[in-house]
Amino acid sequence: MYWGARLREYHGLDRRTSALLKRQAGRCAWCKLCFTDTDVLEKDHRVPRICGGKEESANLQLLHRHCHDQKTKQDGSMAARSSGAQRGAV
Ligand SMILES: [Zn+2]
Repeated sequence: MYWGARLREYHGLDRRTSALLKRQAGRCAWCKLCFTDTDVLEKDHRVPRICGGKEESANLQLLHRHCHDQKTKQDGSMAARSSGAQRGAV
């Protein structure tokens, strides 16, 4: 799979991840910094699924793992989860 010279370091990612990377121009949606090949990328639901977000690419974004942690603390999904509903439905 080839995504152009700029993204060549991302070989081996699944198709959805690669498409998201392309859409985000190789940048984290949270901190806006470019991903590097040493970063851990995680798919995030913009609207958490526990809050009704859909499992579709329009609702997905790529974040650094550490950014994902920050976002999760702020988007309400942690609070929703700890309230007991849909435990484990990430
Ligand atoms: Zn980031």
